[in-house]
Amino acid sequence: MTVRTRIAPSPTGDPHVGTAYVALFNMAFAHSQGGEFLLRIEDTDQQRSTPESEKAILDALKWLGLSWDEGPDIGGVKGPYRQSERSEIYRKYADQLIADGYAFRCFCTPERLEQLRAEQLANKQPLGYDGRCANLSPAEIDRRLAAGEPYVVRLRVPREGQCHFNDMLRGEISIDWAQVDMQVLLKADGMPTYHLANVVDDHLMEISHVIRGEEWINSAPKHILLYQYFGWDVPIFCHLPLLRNVDKSKLSKRKNPTSILFYQRMGYLPEAMLNYLGRMGWSMPDEREKFTFDEMLAVFDIQRVSLGGPVFDVEKLDWLNGLWIREELSDEQLADRLQEWALNRETLLAFLPFAKQRMETLSDIAPLGNYLVSGMLPISAEQLRSAYVEEEQLLEVLQYSLWRLESVQNWQRETIFEALKNVSDSMGLKLKPFLAPLFIAIAGSNASISVMDSMKLLGADMSRARLRYAIELLGGVGKKKLKKLEKAYQQLN
Ligand code: GLU
Repeated sequence: MTVRTRIAPSPTGDPHVGTAYVALFNMAFAHSQGGEFLLRIEDTDQQRSTPESEKAILDALKWLGLSWDEGPDIGGVKGPYRQSERSEIYRKYADQLIADGYAFRCFCTPERLEQLRAEQLANKQPLGYDGRCANLSPAEIDRRLAAGEPYVVRLRVPREGQCHFNDMLRGEISIDWAQVDMQVLLKADGMPTYHLANVVDDHLMEISHVIRGEEWINSAPKHILLYQYFGWDVPIFCHLPLLRNVDKSKLSKRKNPTSILFYQRMGYLPEAMLNYLGRMGWSMPDEREKFTFDEMLAVFDIQRVSLGGPVFDVEKLDWLNGLWIREELSDEQLADRLQEWALNRETLLAFLPFAKQRMETLSDIAPLGNYLVSGMLPISAEQLRSAYVEEEQLLEVLQYSLWRLESVQNWQRETIFEALKNVSDSMGLKLKPFLAPLFIAIAGSNASISVMDSMKLLGADMSRARLRYAIELLGGVGKKKLKKLEKAYQQLN
């Protein structure tokens, strides 16, 4: 058997460090077994998937030094590698399941499902579909189809007994069938859900080992059922431990930047990042902390992954990155890296139209542009507080702006301005006092160029990270405060 693994990101946001971590282990496992590793884009959620996100994910993984043998950018014999280009295939398989009695059409309306859920919640019953449409007569199905009633296709799931399967790292896992929902496989618009598309593609793309994050363990029974219904071999499962914040909670952008683009912008070396990701739950047999991908590959054994919940600790990454800079790069190479990173003509040209107005000597560029190449700025809570906005509104201004900016897809001066204007209007604040603390958070001073231009130049990831940093400086928002703010934010519009 040829070992074939895959990474299957959904292009619905920034490239996540967790995706890179899972991709790295898939690639290392496949290569260590003389196998192949492929990349598939799971964009069945058409509302949330964007081509920009797909491009950013591919670019970020390549920047880290990861590569795949087949994928949407390079093709391959099992393509296409983008699920949105494979809809016909899934429909065919859904029809087959219905014909064989392994799936059924469900005509329940969203209102009925909502009501069912409310009842289950009120009665403290387990949530899930109650099977109303599971046994409709053929005549009734025909009648409803003829009447043009919309329907979804659901998986038929045993109600009794247990699903047993083996996980490479966890051994035997048993899950009660009663806990497994009659999963929707095909949505009313004819698009498949993740579960159907994922299983069909893993089979057609001849994936031998499904190595993915532990958040998918509970989906495995549905997937296994699908393989069995289709009469296909079930791949070997391996659920990697989730990355965690320093406090052991699931890695979240509120506590840790999660976008690879942030780390790129901060000036981490891709080799050091990849090295650090290789240390997530895994270690070299000699416990060496600094190693290259090739060194990792030479001794790679997936059984060395420990399930203890790997902590993604930026301080540790800083330390490792420092080692790489000092020990692996000559001065010549470091100079090249700095140029590639941000000390280049392109960065200057983007900034000069703004800086020029304020320059009398060439050396003025240093204080003017310092904040553009820095990481987090040496600002204080006092500086933020001394901005014009009323003290109690300060946190709201920063947090609401951050939330609004997190949903800006196309990062341009105009879209940033629109987002911020929208928040200030709905808070009933004039733009100038509203923007004052943002100036400090983003540029370190309110004497800088327009904060929208600064954000555009800094990019989305660094801008958002600086806002988060400013919120932290003010003492941060605990769970309770966060809930309150979220509620008030939702009521803003
Ligand atoms: N599209 C899923 C994700 O975004 C893939 C999960 C899997 O590997 O099966 O994580």
